[in-house]
Amino acid sequence: MEHRVRESWQERFAGTPDVLMSAGRRHTVVQVLDVAVGGDEFITMAGPCSVETESQLMATAHHVRRGGARILRGGAFKPRSSPYAFQGLGLQGLKLLARAREESGLAIVTEVMSECDVPMVAEYADILQIGSRSMENYSLLETAARSGRPILLKRGMVATIADLLRSAQVILDNGNPDVILCERGIRTFETAMRNSFDAAGIALLKQITHLPVIADPSHAAGHRELVPALARIGVAAGADGLLVEVHPNPDKSWSDGEQSLDFAEFDAMMAALGPWIELRSRELGEREAAGVRPMEVAG
Ligand code: PEP
Ligand code: MN
Repeated sequence: MEHRVRESWQERFAGTPDVLMSAGRRHTVVQVLDVAVGGDEFITMAGPCSVETESQLMATAHHVRRGGARILRGGAFKPRSSPYAFQGLGLQGLKLLARAREESGLAIVTEVMSECDVPMVAEYADILQIGSRSMENYSLLETAARSGRPILLKRGMVATIADLLRSAQVILDNGNPDVILCERGIRTFETAMRNSFDAAGIALLKQITHLPVIADPSHAAGHRELVPALARIGVAAGADGLLVEVHPNPDKSWSDGEQSLDFAEFDAMMAALGPWIELRSRELGEREAAGVRPMEVAG
C-alpha cells in the first residue's frame, strides 16, 4: 500500500483552484491607475481609518504621498465594534476621497459594506475594500466583484486561510481577477494586542496563491507603538505592500485613534522600512533569476 507522506497544497485547497499558484500562473499584478499592486514595487496604502473632515483628509493625503504612499485609504462606511460609534460620512466621505485623489494624485481604497452601496462606492473608489466583518458575505462579494473594480479582501478575524481563499475564489468566479488579499490580524486567546498578526499566513499565501498580499499592521496591533514592528515583519514575510492608518492628530481621531500613526511616526516608519524593502526587492530578483518554483509544484 502506498504511504502518502505529504498532502500537496492543491489537494489541501482543492476547493479554490483559481486562486492557487501554478506553473502557468505565478503572480497576478493588479493595476490601479498608475500603480501596480503585486509587481516589483512595494506599495504602501495609508490614510485615516475614517474620512472625517476635508482638512483631515487633504492634509493626510498630501503627507502620506510625500512619505512614499501610492494609495490613499479612508473609510466612508465604517463597520464599528459598537453600534453607537461613528458610522462614517457615507456619500459625503466618498466625495471628499474623490477630491483627495484629484489633489494628491493618489488612488483611493475605501470600504463597501452593503450590496446596495456597491454602485455608489464603485463610482468614487479605485479599489473596493471588503472588511473583515464582511469577508464571508458572498452576496456582497459577488456584487462587488461584478462592479469590475479591484477588490481588497480583508481576512475575517476568525477566518482560516482556506476561508479567505474561498472568498477570493467567489470574486474570481464572478469575473473579477483583480483581488488583493489582506492579512489584518486574527482573534486568538491573546488579548495584549487587538488581534494576532499572522505573519506565517502572509508567507504561506505568498507561496500558494498568485494574488497580491497586503499586510495591515494597524488593525493587527491595535496600538500605534507596535505598528512599525509589524510592518517590518510584514515586509519580511513577503507582503507586496502595507495598509496603514495615519491621522494628523490620532488622539482626536473619530475611530481607531489608538492604532493610528501621526505624521512624524509615519515618516519614521517609512524611513526604517527602507532597508527592509530593498532587501525584499533583492531577494525577489534573486529568486526570479534562480527560477525558484512555487511550493506546491516543488512539493
Ligand atoms: C479598516 O480598515 O478601517 C477596517 C475596519 O478594517 P477591518 O475590516 O480589518 O477591521
Ligand atoms: Mn480602522
